[in-house]
Amino acid sequence: MRIEENYLLKEHNTFRLPVKARWFMEYESEDELVCILRDEYFQESLSLHIGSGSNLLFLNDYNGIILHSAIKGITIAGETDDTVLLRIGAAEIWDDVVAYAVSKGWSGIENLSLIPGESGAAAVQNIGAYGVEIKQVVETVEAYNQLTFEKQTFTNEACGYDYRSSFFKNKQHDPYIITHIHLRLSKTPRYTLHYGNLKELAAACSPLTIQDIRRIIIDIRRQKLPDPAVTGNAGSFFTNPIIPADHYEALKKRYPAIPAYPMKGQVKIPAGWLIEQCGWKGKTCGQVAVYDKQALVLVNLGEATGDEIALVAERIRTAVAERFGIELVPEVHYVLS
Ligand SMILES: Cc1cc2nc3c(=O)[nH]c(=O)nc-3n(C[C@H](O)[C@H](O)[C@H](O)COP(=O)(O)OP(=O)(O)OC[C@H]3O[C@@H](n4cnc5c(N)ncnc54)[C@H](O)[C@@H]3O)c2cc1C
Repeated sequence: MRIEENYLLKEHNTFRLPVKARWFMEYESEDELVCILRDEYFQESLSLHIGSGSNLLFLNDYNGIILHSAIKGITIAGETDDTVLLRIGAAEIWDDVVAYAVSKGWSGIENLSLIPGESGAAAVQNIGAYGVEIKQVVETVEAYNQLTFEKQTFTNEACGYDYRSSFFKNKQHDPYIITHIHLRLSKTPRYTLHYGNLKELAAACSPLTIQDIRRIIIDIRRQKLPDPAVTGNAGSFFTNPIIPADHYEALKKRYPAIPAYPMKGQVKIPAGWLIEQCGWKGKTCGQVAVYDKQALVLVNLGEATGDEIALVAERIRTAVAERFGIELVPEVHYVLS
């Protein structure tokens, strides 16, 4: 177990904000986790479990305990003629898991290549990209109740998955800490190519392999998104809003080019398009910028504070609400203590 006091979190958040945690605790096993959870000081303190911090915005120093898992490992927990079940430690870097699955020829998560972060958080966030969400392959999730210290195994259904959301994100019940996730992947190729121009790009590869798909996705992502190792950012700052069909019809009359994706009787609108229409794409406000290739991404030009980033986000929200009557909701989790 590792315990640090007044610990700099710059390497633990992809906005690269130089905030400090009063305490940083990293556990390597489930026993160490339970030991922390049972500790009276921990129980009385404010705490937050983080992964790689690629979806967090720290608004100030964290006056509590930042918890981090070091539980790694990918093992085969089951197998059928057609599928393989992987048990993955929460601290495994998500893209390493994708690279491993692709190297074995197991399909299901190749479209989720290069998404930053750790595997435990991936199951919290229900990460998604290019027509695939992790919920499609999650079989079960192992997690500890932070208040009762009991271990529970959640079925896919119990995970309560929705767009970028899950039971674990919901704050209405006891908090849970994920230690392992179980993913069921296909041994026979089952590719998802309907999203964007994936089908066209894939058509150039004959025969198409799972390695091709990973390479194509990585190429697209590198062209569209800033690399957090170079430029601080947390990917999409807002979720794509889902609006009632009549609101969409009214907007379509005023903005015939508005992109839209039907969703269970409602309509999903790309937040990046709305922000771009409001003139924010490529705009700079002090040390914060709206990425010039994707208006949904806010970047730290080097010396931004969490407050400054939040202020720009608020100005964008106001502009979109005034013009389109749509309230953008941050995908990024604001951390305040
Ligand atoms: C450049 C870039 C591109 C991105 N592209 C995408 C994309 O295409 N699709 C997408 O869905 N996301 C995307 N993201 C967002 C981000 O990568 C995901 O949300 C990711 O799953 C966050 O993982 P993390 O380990 O960094 O988690 P963190 O940001 O550290 O935490 C996220 C949440 O999970 C909780 N958490 C973390 N670990 C645990 C655990 N073990 N148990 C319980 N709770 C836990 C935290 O408390 C927090 O609420 C992108 C981010 C960046 C920077």
